[in-house]
Amino acid sequence: MDDRPYFISVEEAQAICNATPVKPRVEHLPLDRCSGRVLAEDLSSQVDDPPFDNSSMDGFACKFDAEATYPLTLNIVGLQAATGQNEDRHVSEGEAVRIMTGAPMPPGADAILPIEKCEIQGDLVCLLEAPKPHFVRKKGENLSQGDVALTKGQHLTPSRVGLCATMGHAFVPVYTQLNIGIISTGDELKSPGETLQHGEIYESNSFGLAGLVEWAGHVPVRFSAVADSMEALREALDKAADTCDLILTSGGVSMGEFDYVRRLMEEEGDIHFWRMKIRPGSPPLFGRWKTTPLFGLPGNPVSSHVVFRMLVAPYLRHSLGTDVPKEWKIRAKLCDPVKSTKDCVTLRRVTLFSTDDGMMAYQPRHQGSGNLESLASADALTLLQPGQSGEVGSWIDVLVL
Ligand code: AMP
Ligand code: MG
Repeated sequence: MDDRPYFISVEEAQAICNATPVKPRVEHLPLDRCSGRVLAEDLSSQVDDPPFDNSSMDGFACKFDAEATYPLTLNIVGLQAATGQNEDRHVSEGEAVRIMTGAPMPPGADAILPIEKCEIQGDLVCLLEAPKPHFVRKKGENLSQGDVALTKGQHLTPSRVGLCATMGHAFVPVYTQLNIGIISTGDELKSPGETLQHGEIYESNSFGLAGLVEWAGHVPVRFSAVADSMEALREALDKAADTCDLILTSGGVSMGEFDYVRRLMEEEGDIHFWRMKIRPGSPPLFGRWKTTPLFGLPGNPVSSHVVFRMLVAPYLRHSLGTDVPKEWKIRAKLCDPVKSTKDCVTLRRVTLFSTDDGMMAYQPRHQGSGNLESLASADALTLLQPGQSGEVGSWIDVLVL
């Protein structure tokens, strides 16, 4: 293959992909539709939080008196409910106002005693101990108006969606979810539900990849599997390029006679690199079909999945300037041997057990790249570097699945 980058490291491959990012658009969504999305602009608070001094307890509000001794009896002069609209009476020495959690502090009061520490006798309340100034939540103690509390690229988790509301935003600028076309290739592929003839297998990659696309926060667009022919593939790629922001193909990128994705991309597309130093999953290519970025993922089901995690997911994160979905890399001790290679990162599927001595990694399954069950039953992938020892007892990085 001419002078295009060939069989490069994961880092080099990621850098090449990142140079051709997908460009998400920005949309302003009502708050109840933006959970799980990525914030497209910094968000500042429109109000102080809290907007006024208020009580953090149900109890009595009064003036703190350092000289007083307790129990101390005070006159109940009012009731302050959460909105504070019923009464706004000034509290003087010798007086207390019954107050509810979140209600504005009555003027003059600066301390609260929780109701459990109070005894009410008619119009009087007996404070069994000193009222506490720290039960007053001060205006702006969490956020001042204008403070930037959420920044562009942050994932809108449930607490962050709530914070948008606290800050007064009814609509929030988020990145559009990308439409990601998924095209499986191979004459041998049949859909689940159909009857298999000899030589045929069930097509699984498009379903697994659709799940990964959703996990990454985007919208999968599954196309029917395409036969191994230049014409059929060209037609499918054209259709996907018309409607999708990014195309994923599976199969047809190796050295085989019928590996038409690679051939078509070489002859009519634009390949930015081919093959990457990971095992399994070395055959992928990245490039463009017309103007649409395209990942040619390997056909073996484990390979297409791990290449998504190692290449497509980082690319999507980079394109949106976000760190979601988060990848958790942790240290684990190998309890079964894993053989490293001279030049590839070795991604074995392991089961993790948390022990007092740290995380233990077992490799209970046959590790063929066609064995999807070995991935489905695993907790993590080893990130064994080229030449790194994978003997039993070695501590290595693993990527949590
Ligand atoms: P290929 O890269 O096209 O040579 O495919 C490599 C292996 O993966 C072959 O055994 C294919 O049958 C298998 N394979 C390819 N595409 C799929 C798919 N969509 N679902 C399940 N297996 C596949
Ligand atoms: Mg094939």
